[in-house]
Formats: sequence, C-alpha cells, structure tokens
Amino acid sequence: MKFLFKIFLIIFICYANISFSQFTDKPVYEIEKDFHSRYFNKIKDSYQSDTSINAVYYKLDLYITENPNFLTGAVTINSVSKINGLSSLFYDFSNNMTVDSIIYNGSSHSYIHSNDKISISFSENFNLNDLISIVIYYHGVPIPTGFGSFIFGYHNGNEPSIWTLSEPYGCIDWYPCKNTPGDKVDSSDVWLRCSEELTAVSNGILREAVNNPDGTITFKWHNSYPIANYLISLAISNYVQYNFNFYYSATEYMPVMNYIYPEDLNVLIPQLDKTNQMLSIFTNAYGPYPFLSEKYGHAQFGRNAGMENQTISSMGAFNDDIIAHELAHQWFGDKITCFNWENIWLNEGFATYGQAIYHEAAEGEAAYENFIKSTMSNAKQAVGSIYVIDVANINEIFDGNRSYAKGCIVLHMLRGVVGDSVFFDILRTYVADTSFAYKNAVTQDFQNVVEKVSGLDLEYFFREWIYGENFPVYNVSWTTDELSNVQYKASINIVQNSNLNPQFFTMPVQIKIFMQSGDTLVTVFNDQQDQTFDFILNSKPLDFKIDPDNWILKNIFGENVTPIGFALLQNYPNPFNPSTTISFQLGRPSNVTITIYDILGNEVAQLLNGYLREGTYNTDFIPNGLASGTYFYYLSAMDYNNTNLLFEATGKMILVK
Ligand SMILES: [Zn+2]
Repeated sequence: MKFLFKIFLIIFICYANISFSQFTDKPVYEIEKDFHSRYFNKIKDSYQSDTSINAVYYKLDLYITENPNFLTGAVTINSVSKINGLSSLFYDFSNNMTVDSIIYNGSSHSYIHSNDKISISFSENFNLNDLISIVIYYHGVPIPTGFGSFIFGYHNGNEPSIWTLSEPYGCIDWYPCKNTPGDKVDSSDVWLRCSEELTAVSNGILREAVNNPDGTITFKWHNSYPIANYLISLAISNYVQYNFNFYYSATEYMPVMNYIYPEDLNVLIPQLDKTNQMLSIFTNAYGPYPFLSEKYGHAQFGRNAGMENQTISSMGAFNDDIIAHELAHQWFGDKITCFNWENIWLNEGFATYGQAIYHEAAEGEAAYENFIKSTMSNAKQAVGSIYVIDVANINEIFDGNRSYAKGCIVLHMLRGVVGDSVFFDILRTYVADTSFAYKNAVTQDFQNVVEKVSGLDLEYFFREWIYGENFPVYNVSWTTDELSNVQYKASINIVQNSNLNPQFFTMPVQIKIFMQSGDTLVTVFNDQQDQTFDFILNSKPLDFKIDPDNWILKNIFGENVTPIGFALLQNYPNPFNPSTTISFQLGRPSNVTITIYDILGNEVAQLLNGYLREGTYNTDFIPNGLASGTYFYYLSAMDYNNTNLLFEATGKMILVK
C-alpha cells in the first residue's frame, strides 16, 4: 500500500497534546496493574498460578488407549524458586484426574490434590534459583472443558482421533502444570505411547519411535524452544504423512510435516502445498520462522477450526485463511506469547492480520483491501475494549469481533498511521526483541516498540483503540471560497459523535480533495471533537473524501455534498435595458449587501441587505431614473455577527438607453 502525496497546498495541522508516561523499568505484571488502575479504575489479578516458582521444563510421558478411553501419565516438572526460603508450592491439575503418587528426590512424597491444585510441602527450604524437580504419576479419563481440551474422538466412522486443544485453561484436564501463559518452560518432551496402528504427534522433533512388546509404540517428541503450557499438544490417529521441505536459504531447509487422515489426503494436498509460499511470505514480513531447527506441521483433528500448537498446528479445516492464521501464530502467540489472556489480541489480532498479509502478498492489493473491508464490518460489531476485562469467560477472550477482527484492524490502522516501511520495521523489531522473543509480552511492550521504531508518541492510539471502545463516527461538511482567480480555500469540518470511552477518537485522517486540476491527498491530525481544517488550493475544489484508502475503522456521514463557494457572477443581460439580473453564491450563511455605485463612486441604489443561508441567489436590478453609463455592483458577505468579512466582489455593468 502506498501513500501518494502531491504537496502543492498549505495545510494547517493541529498537534495533539497528550500526556505520556513510560513504564519501562517495571516488570510486565506491574505494568498490567498500572493499566487496570489507569483505564479501568480497578486492579484486577489475572491468574498467574504459583508466583513463587518459575517452571522451566515439562516432560509428559503418557500412555493413551482408545478402547477403553484412558490416560495414564507421568509428568516431570522442573521449576526454580523465585524466592528465598520456599518450603511449599503448587501446580494446577484437574480434580477429575487421579494422582497416584508424587516422586521427589527419588522417593514418594506427600501432597494434597484439591480445588484443581496439587500442593506439596517440603521439609527443607529452597532459595532463589534452586531447582525443584518432581514427577507426578496419575491416571483417569480426561473430561474436556473449554473448546475441547482433551478429546477421544473418531473420524471416517470408527477410526480413532485423539487430540488436545488446551487454550486457554484446558491443560489441567490432562497434565499438571503452571496454568498460565505467562510462565514458559525452556523446553519440553512429550512421549506418547499408543496402539502401534496409530501415529502420535506433538511439538518439536521426533527423536525416536520405539515399538513395545505389547503392540504399542512410543513416540518421543522433543521441543528445544521455550513453550507456553497451552501450546503443548498431542494428536493421535491413523495418520498418513505428507512431508516436504521449506528452503529458507539456497542450501538450508526445514521439514514441513503434515499428519492427515488417509481419506482426506488427496483433496488436501493442493492446500497443504501452499504452506511453503506462506512461510516465505511471513519470513519476508516478520523475519525467520521461529522454530527453524525443528519443523512446522499440521495435525488433522476433530474440531472445525485450527489451533496453533507450537511447530504443529492442529487443523480441522484447511482453507487458505486457517492455514495462514495458524502459521502466523507461530510468530505471534508461540514465539511471543501474550503474558495473560487480557492481552489475547497480541496473539489473535496479529494472526488475523497475518491472513491480510498473506492475501496481499499472494493475491494483490485488492485482495488485501477486500479482506480489511470484511474484517472491518466484523470489527464494528465488537462490544467492549480489545483489552479483555472478563478473562474468566473464554468466549470473552476469544470474541471473534473484538480479539480477532478489531485486533487485526488495529494493526491495519497502525500501518496507516506510520506508513508501510515503518510498520514492517515495527513487526520485525518486535519479533526479534530479546525482551519478548521466546518470552511474553503485554500491550505496553508492543507500544514501546512501536514508539521507539516510529519515533511517534502513540499513547492516544493505544489508549483509544486497545483500552477504549467502539470507533469514530465522522459527520463531515465543507465550504469553499474563491480567494482570487488562482487561489481557493476549502474548509472541511469534522464533527465526531460522542462516545463513552474515548469521548472521541484522535487520529491522523487522510482527506482526498478533488480539484479541477486533479486530486490531492492530505493528512490532518484530528484531535478535537469538532474541528475544521482549512486548505489553500491553487485550483478550484470540486469534492472531497475522508480516508479514501480506508485506513480507519469508522462511519462517515455527509460526504458527497457538493459545496458552494462564494461567487458574484456577471450580470445578465449586459449591456442592459430596462433591467438586468445579478446572480451570486454564498458558501455559508452570511449577512449580504449588494450596493450599486456610479462611475464616480456615489451609491445610487441598494439591492439587498439581509441574512441569507448558503445557496445560489438571483436578484433583479431595475434602474429608476439613472442615466446611460457604467455602473458597479458590489457584494459583501459578512458573518453572522457582522464582524468578519467572508467575501466581497465587484462587477461592472453598462446601462444603455
Ligand atoms: Zn488464532
């Protein structure tokens, strides 16, 4: 997308005066509290699990049978203490599962499993950074919650399809963990033992698949990148594999591995083949695929949607948008994970915008514009702030209109504010920033990157679009004046409907002015609810359009109203006898006088003296008792209070007797 600026006019731009504060020295969680108190007048704690420990490693060793449905697990969790003198901790795990034992330091250890937590006390104290490693043995039939945290399902009749979709709170239905996206472990192993008829898929690389004497097989998957608990997954079925390589340089490649139901493979191959093009497009836009030393892949599953499990998206549909969306998540969601669910737009808004980037790169600018247009119509339905207030309600977190559509449109609008090259600089800088890469981020982190890269103070932008609600409704009107035969003035007025939060939207707004000599695009900084922008033009203005390239989520009323400039036309007929008509136009309501003077400057008649609305008028002049000769008609238009002259002009006419 490109902006076209033809600068041959004077623009009066108002600058916003916005208070701005930095929080860069505070940890992200404190920043979050600042935002709650600043924007919502309350301090709200999102669930952070046991904040006295930092989980560093999970090993899931699971035996899964489908006949009967059953899960037996041994999960190793390594954590380090974040405090001195730690003597107890807890992990999150559903009460529906039965804990058999906990092993600490080689021997069985006592625990309490209640309220979906496993609490463990130690006889010794741990100090800062001490490692605490335990193994939890358990069994049961997981009861799915949320979007289907753990499903024993089928495809093609009675072929097993066992899968997980843990986001946001569902991990604890099938494995014990710290149940928060804000604490990633450094690496993970997932060992899956199942019937040897089946293939079990998880994150990272398959180190080995071991056939067991009892007719089962154990798949040993290892992930060497930091990973959030909800992105650890499994998918088990009678998959066929369809693999190819993605070359990210002339000689280096990464495998793309697709685990597909046999009956669907042929029809899906053309879609799966698009993954490489998408990987190239997103590499260009964001930087290298984050998990190059492992893989990217798709594992077909039973939910009619996609889930961006790290290095292996679970897929129930394979249209372009879903493939692109889940792939974009590998950068936004997986590499950089939202610190808490309040900031889910950092995952979903970005992944949805990834669809737009795909359409633009693969299909062209018109496809991008169409995608944005339809996403905007969803975004206009969004209720509440993008920043999620009620994270206990998973439908609030994953509200399609708000977290996805409006989150996507915020990025589109940001692109409009900063321009293409800065925008993509921002994305690449954010993705590569070691403060967030393979870690977590909140909105303020992204805002800091945006402001640093762009050099702009964009507090207003994030405040109103992330923490505010709705979108601007612009009521526009305009007037034009002819200042001389080479200078014209256009005054464009924008009045915004009142909104609750913010009261109105501060935004740079592009205006296209159509003139006799062509058109021009100007940007004004709209930071008042009722604001008029004046433009001095060197060609007659004919029409205007607000935000012609559709950068802003908005409604507009009042466009395409032809303005009337001030003008005094030549009388007709001329020369005249016995009468003539004088026509004039008023660009705005005015106190108008028309006075007739003779050639010596003596006033001989007054045709008009009164207040008129804008419009076109004709008035007849019938000279009474005047001699033949040259006369002048002079029009003046004053404003409502008769204090400012809006327009004046003089015409010459000849009376012939
Ligand atoms: Zn998503």
